[in-house]
Amino acid sequence: MDHLAPYRIAFVGLKPGKHDFHMQVDDLFFESFPHAETDEIFGNLSVTLDKLGSRLNCVADFEGFAKLPCDRCLEPLEVKLVFSERLIVQLGDLTNTDEEIWTLGSECHELDISQPVFEWLHLNLPSRRLHENQDDCDPEIMEYLAEGSKKKPADPHGSSAGDGKDEDNDIDPRWNALKDLK
Ligand SMILES: [Zn+2]
Repeated sequence: MDHLAPYRIAFVGLKPGKHDFHMQVDDLFFESFPHAETDEIFGNLSVTLDKLGSRLNCVADFEGFAKLPCDRCLEPLEVKLVFSERLIVQLGDLTNTDEEIWTLGSECHELDISQPVFEWLHLNLPSRRLHENQDDCDPEIMEYLAEGSKKKPADPHGSSAGDGKDEDNDIDPRWNALKDLK
């Protein structure tokens, strides 16, 4: 199944004026972007496309959340994600989507906004991701940090299983940074 189909807007047959589109962002969307920083972003995207002669103004409003590891305890944390972004498209001779204002050539019948949506989702992720209260952080991890012991914490991601690396060299550098803060 083509999960990106809703992100391709067939603009040719649209009447001049504003048109609304709604898309769902979920893990299926990210299947097409295997190198994403996170594929755990969920929410609703509303796109208003304003067709003005040879120009398409797109305003995209997203409301949802991302699941990211907490910077303090590395446990998954839900952070709210809300943004409004804009894409301006000119209809011209040669297709060029490398510039800030896109140009679509006459061979294009659809406007594919999946790539900009993917970029917006990541650009708008907060840089600080912390459980609001330290008490909400994983108590085992916090105890580990407090003790500064050499005991290995439970792997919060469950992702390193089977990589066969020496675990002592495998500790996230953030752990050391946190220890230095005390
Ligand atoms: Zn935490």
